[in-house]
Amino acid sequence: MASLNLQTPLTFLKGVGEQRAAMLLKELELETCYDLLHFFPFRYIDRTDFTTVKAVKQNAFTLAELREVQMKGFISKMHIVGAKQGRRLIATFSDNTDTMELVWFNGINWLQKSLKEDVQYIVYGKPSIYNGVVNMMHPEMEPAAQSDFQLSGKIQPIYSGTEKLKSRGINSKMIARFVQSLIAQLSELDLPEQLPASVIQKYKLIGRFEAYKCIHFPDSDAHLQHALRRLKFEELFIDQIKLLRVKQYRHSSSMGFIFKELDTYFNPFYTAHMPFELTNAQKRVMKEIRKDLLSGRQMNRLLQGDVGSGKTVVALLTMLMALDNGFQACLMAPTEILSQQHIAGISELLKDLPIQVALLTGSVKGKQRKLILEGVADGSIQILIGTHALIEETVQFKNLGCVVIDEQHRFGVEQRSKLWNKNSLTPHILVMTATPIPRTLSMAYYGDLDVSIIDELPPGRKPIKTVHRKESERLHVFGFLKEQIAEGRQVFIIYPLIEESEKLDLKNLMAGAEAIERAFPKPQYQVSILHGKMKPADKDFEMQRFLNKQTHIMISTTVIEVGVNVPNATVMVIENAERFGLAQLHQLRGRVGRGAHQSFCLLMTDVKLSNDARKRISTMVETNDGFKIAEVDMQLRGPGEIEGTRQSGAPQFKIANLQTDEPILREARLTADEILDADPNLNTPEHAALKKFLSAQSWKIKQWGKVS
Ligand code: ADP
Ligand code: MG
Repeated sequence: MASLNLQTPLTFLKGVGEQRAAMLLKELELETCYDLLHFFPFRYIDRTDFTTVKAVKQNAFTLAELREVQMKGFISKMHIVGAKQGRRLIATFSDNTDTMELVWFNGINWLQKSLKEDVQYIVYGKPSIYNGVVNMMHPEMEPAAQSDFQLSGKIQPIYSGTEKLKSRGINSKMIARFVQSLIAQLSELDLPEQLPASVIQKYKLIGRFEAYKCIHFPDSDAHLQHALRRLKFEELFIDQIKLLRVKQYRHSSSMGFIFKELDTYFNPFYTAHMPFELTNAQKRVMKEIRKDLLSGRQMNRLLQGDVGSGKTVVALLTMLMALDNGFQACLMAPTEILSQQHIAGISELLKDLPIQVALLTGSVKGKQRKLILEGVADGSIQILIGTHALIEETVQFKNLGCVVIDEQHRFGVEQRSKLWNKNSLTPHILVMTATPIPRTLSMAYYGDLDVSIIDELPPGRKPIKTVHRKESERLHVFGFLKEQIAEGRQVFIIYPLIEESEKLDLKNLMAGAEAIERAFPKPQYQVSILHGKMKPADKDFEMQRFLNKQTHIMISTTVIEVGVNVPNATVMVIENAERFGLAQLHQLRGRVGRGAHQSFCLLMTDVKLSNDARKRISTMVETNDGFKIAEVDMQLRGPGEIEGTRQSGAPQFKIANLQTDEPILREARLTADEILDADPNLNTPEHAALKKFLSAQSWKIKQWGKVS
């Protein structure tokens, strides 16, 4: 027989053949022996335990839930009763403790022919009680003496399949048989050890070949746990090594401007004009950025900080360092409104310093645009703020040294990569995001980036009070809104937007708006309405009216989600709050609590809530901490659904689970760090196998990997 290796197509595996191989490829994307080996069971049935008929009969009446059991014994008195749908095969099953009936409705004729009275069987199935008598329907039967492929007496792997595969007889048991035949033909040589011996020793990992054998056919639960740990560790470790090597590469190869000087703008601003003292978290982040800007390498830093944590001033200080060294800086925001708010806020902070700041968005046109473009080209404009209009070809900077990108998930990766050619060396890049993500995800998704975290709010903030209210309490809610408005405050009321049915949502919004306008009649109350179907100019107009306090209530879909700052708004009402995800609820809540007054968030829901919805609402009521909320979000939805991770080239893990394997990920990260610190190019003999494995995987540094 020709020898088999992991690259061998499944067609050549014993018992598979061309047709089944085609089915396995089509239905499960399994093409080679390697694929099959990595097609791990999704659960196991413990068939190491045998019970007796007597115990089954006793337990049937006392246990709350009947589970699959396994017994050894003989059958007798097979006979067929009933007609049509009721036609069934009945056999008496006995061991030396008692007897019970086995019943089959399907495949009767074949079973009657093949089951033998003088053969000892292992019977596996779930007992049931019918008319007060204990029996078992459709048990699996296996001769106890069978020798070639046996699942009884073992922990049995269960593989997922499709209906189509099952209809062709390719069920979990058959897949198990394929895997067994594959493993029997493999040896340690096919699955050589690639982890350094010291790591295996330190973390007490079992061997690689053994782990693969065991994950398919464990002989005990303890052994299975060891196999899982070994394979998860390896998967996460390899991933971390790759990420860290990308980072290494970036650090060693991408030169950056050095910003040494601080005297013209930074120091005067920091010591004399900044209206507050930085929080400790902001100071720490500034040190991290300062270090980057002195390193001679291009900075590529992700700044995470909850809404209101004060990222803007960090951005400004970073830009001032560029200015001090004769460079220009720019700040990109995802929308017009946000750009306007940034320029207003930054101009205010810089009002006593002679710094030229300009705004460039899609709506800046004609002569004004021409002037700005000239100022940017001759260097007289030092800080340019705007939307993605900033990165168009026509915008030519004299000497761009630093780019800040606010709310990164709104900018596509390609858009960002355009920044690459804006100067002789790539400008330093600081990407800011208000979406906290759990540490595990940070490590797994942004492991190749430098990450700074502001995990502290400026002092004196009053935490937003969040409550859950039902439809029946609406009158109360409106009464509360009126009190707040009477005190001079403003209110947001948000309706959900679900993209598949925008029409319906608009109807929902409009119906809600009518009810609100009835409850809050003109001229005493003024209401703004904002939704995604409006023209940008109309949106800005309404937003501006609200900002100028010409309206009391802003009724909106989630278009206002990102970053808008209305310090006088103190109430955020979220309608149908059960329809929002946690990240979105948290973002929306962050629109209030920005001024001196106590702010409130009211989550309106139906009476009936799913368990997940209830958990989301109670989490919002319990905490304002974005990182805690992100953790719960990940527990509820899984890592792939977390805002801010979706477009970042998320790794797909075959066996590791970021929701539950954080401790293993930490070990893997630590180990990868230590190894690359000690041996950056993996040149020592101990790392030879690892290096060989990595290069065989032909992993590439993606072009855009350079820009976060
Ligand atoms: P975000 O991180 O959401 O962008 P901002 O930068 O808009 O937050 O800051 C929110 C508010 O907090 C702003 O009004 C800002 O002036 C203020 N702020 C920022 N840092 C501090 C600080 N260290 N002390 C007091 N107030 C601060
Ligand atoms: Mg902001």
